[in-house]
Amino acid sequence: MIDGKAFAAGLVESIRADVAVLKASRFIQPGLAVVLVGEDPASQVYVRNKAKQTVLAGMHSVEFKLPAHTPEPALIALVEQLNADPKIHGILVQLPLPGHIDSTKVLDTINPDKDVDGFHIINAGRLAVGLPGLVPCTPLGCIMLLTDALGDLSGLNAVVVGRSNIVGKPVAQLLLAQNCTVTIAHSRSRNLPDICRGADILIAAAGRPEMIKGDWIKPGATVIDVGINRVPAGDGKTKLVGDVAYGEAQGIAGRITPVPGGVGPMTIACLLRNTLTAAKRIEGIG
Ligand code: NAD
Repeated sequence: MIDGKAFAAGLVESIRADVAVLKASRFIQPGLAVVLVGEDPASQVYVRNKAKQTVLAGMHSVEFKLPAHTPEPALIALVEQLNADPKIHGILVQLPLPGHIDSTKVLDTINPDKDVDGFHIINAGRLAVGLPGLVPCTPLGCIMLLTDALGDLSGLNAVVVGRSNIVGKPVAQLLLAQNCTVTIAHSRSRNLPDICRGADILIAAAGRPEMIKGDWIKPGATVIDVGINRVPAGDGKTKLVGDVAYGEAQGIAGRITPVPGGVGPMTIACLLRNTLTAAKRIEGIG
């Protein structure tokens, strides 16, 4: 099992140490602003966790909770205000936004240097052409777990199931940058089980509970399960499962991330890492 929770805890610890040095030596405290529009319960939990972890890492944390009916111009005005705020080095607008707001327009208003989610078109472009920039947190977490588990990824066959802008596409770009041979599969792909069977590295990011079966996995492959799906647990309660049938995959995969406790904790740790990176770049350090 690849223990993402333990790896993320170590990463947060090293970020906290870096933040302490930055504060003591340069009087700089990295600052993260998180903006939530509406009352989506899952988003509220994510935002609360992000703010808590930011404070634990010694960073300055600001939360903005706006009502669901907030007009788009008001949200854009807030983002512009945060762009100009010298105490804020990272800005995160929690997705999804209510339907009347154009998410792309809002995300592209964020100063790309403060775009700690890495969703700005400039950062997506930088990733695509191999220039340094801020990289989306979940894909970054996947690559950190992979390089920690496997070392050099050169020449390995990587299959990514899912092609979203948030996970599938950026993780495929990062795997390519690590010299993997990359296949991106999606909802229209034919013979998905066969495609998966060719993978030395299998990244599951389809949002389909336990879709990837044990016999889709090459023996010894490394499986990173990004999916987070809430399903009935049978006793009137619910539980979280990934996109991979974990029980079946366990005896076949060489290494596998669990859900929960795999990629999930890496996402917040990488958000803090991106905030630290942004702060150093903005302040002209390193
Ligand atoms: P999305 O819905 O935007 O994209 C899903 C992708 O999967 C699409 O590209 C689609 O083509 C593909 N897909 C859907 N059904 C498929 C099928 N039957 N066969 C093959 N491909 C299929 O989702 P997303 O935002 O990329 O998220 C994917 C999953 O990852 C979700 O479960 C989400 O909750 C989870 N997620 C987890 C984290 C984390 O921190 N661990 C972060 C982001 C997303």
